[in-house]
Amino acid sequence: MTQPHDANTALARRDLQHIWHPCTQMHDHEHVPMVPIVRGEGPWLIDAEGRRYLDGISSWWTNLFGHANPRIAAGLAEQAKTLEHVIFAGFTHPPAIELAEQLVKITPAGLEKVFFADNGSAAIEVALKMSFHYWLNQGHGEKTRFIALTGSYHGETLGALSVSDVALYRKTYAPLLLTPFLAPSPDAYEGEPGESPEQTATRRLATMRELLEQHAHETCAVIVEPLVQCAGGMRMYHPSYLTGLRKLCNEYNVHFIADEIAVGFGRTGTMFACEQAGVAPDFMCLSKGLTGGTLPLSVVLTTQHVYEAFYAEYNAGKAFLHSHSYTGNPLACRAALETLAIFRDEPVLERNRVLSVHLAQKLAPLRDHPYVADVRQQGMIAAVELVADKATRRPFPAEQRRGQRVYLHGLENGALLRPLGNIIYFMPPYVVSESDIDQLVRIAIEGIALAVKD
Ligand SMILES: *Cc1c(COP(=O)(O)O)cnc(C)c1O
Repeated sequence: MTQPHDANTALARRDLQHIWHPCTQMHDHEHVPMVPIVRGEGPWLIDAEGRRYLDGISSWWTNLFGHANPRIAAGLAEQAKTLEHVIFAGFTHPPAIELAEQLVKITPAGLEKVFFADNGSAAIEVALKMSFHYWLNQGHGEKTRFIALTGSYHGETLGALSVSDVALYRKTYAPLLLTPFLAPSPDAYEGEPGESPEQTATRRLATMRELLEQHAHETCAVIVEPLVQCAGGMRMYHPSYLTGLRKLCNEYNVHFIADEIAVGFGRTGTMFACEQAGVAPDFMCLSKGLTGGTLPLSVVLTTQHVYEAFYAEYNAGKAFLHSHSYTGNPLACRAALETLAIFRDEPVLERNRVLSVHLAQKLAPLRDHPYVADVRQQGMIAAVELVADKATRRPFPAEQRRGQRVYLHGLENGALLRPLGNIIYFMPPYVVSESDIDQLVRIAIEGIALAVKD
């Protein structure tokens, strides 16, 4: 098929006429190309001129089984002809019922109730409100605060942003936000010299205990991203932190909210990251991979115990109040059901184990790179931390935007790599081949060579 060779430019020009993109200084597009994608195929994105890009970041961590996945597409087509949407108050539908049943089965024991929303941030809002409201219904209206970890990211609506600690997103809007108590992250990269990740976790748990000792009486919940703080720079920590945190939350009577929006559905090597610590949270938020990356959908799972604190005769006024027009959208639920069916029918996690070992082998040489301070990996998430000085780990100044050079080099060479500042990371769809990984890593290494030049 021949493509007009100025098709990208034409679409980009029309785009920039009217569209305001997320997470973007639009002025950048005076020198950074806008890439119009017209088709997807497995791990590949194809632009208007037929150029192909290997999607190394699963299109913002959503895609699991490839773009335009035929099985999910077929399910969606059938669902669209059957029931596209219905009000979810007073009404229900088979895809939501089935999805709730299946999610309860595969998530940690004790999570029995499923509340639907339509994106990750909305799920966080639901979990925060539900936790607060639980305590209110129990006669503890004095509990109004939350504890979050430094470097955390939970979304960008005001509530979710409130419990996030990535300055880039939070700083400007801080005057509008709730102020959580911040506990230092167990992030292994920030461990003391000579300390193991497990020792870092133990030390950070001691600080969490102090914080709870002081503030548990006014605190609803502790919210964390289990094992990997993704948007905060793919910072990783030892699972013992989660085990310890579960115990502390029980001891001090505060909820444990697990935000598995990014790490759920196999990203960290297990279906859910909490499994690696053997813990069940009081609330678990899921989105992103939930629909295989096809449609927006999110859920908050919680316990029978939490549910019962809201369950009362109408005039008791205890009902949970939160609603989105598209709550439990049948098309999105159907995409999620097809996604879970793929997990059941194919040895996804086993295949990923092989792929992640391969990825680790390919990245290993970067450990000796003079501008690389850390190469870390947790299952299908890997990150390379570029620094100005390897010995002191002094970062490159953010305004030099070294990561962006890797991004641009990627685009020129057929790979979508979108570094977080100076952290180059890989979070590919599970349908990549070993040679796709080779290609991604090769392009990243070339990009890094360009990025560290002055
Ligand atoms: C992406 C993300 C969110 C927010 O989800 P959106 O659908 O983008 O609103 C929340 N928490 C974590 C850990 C995320 O990675």
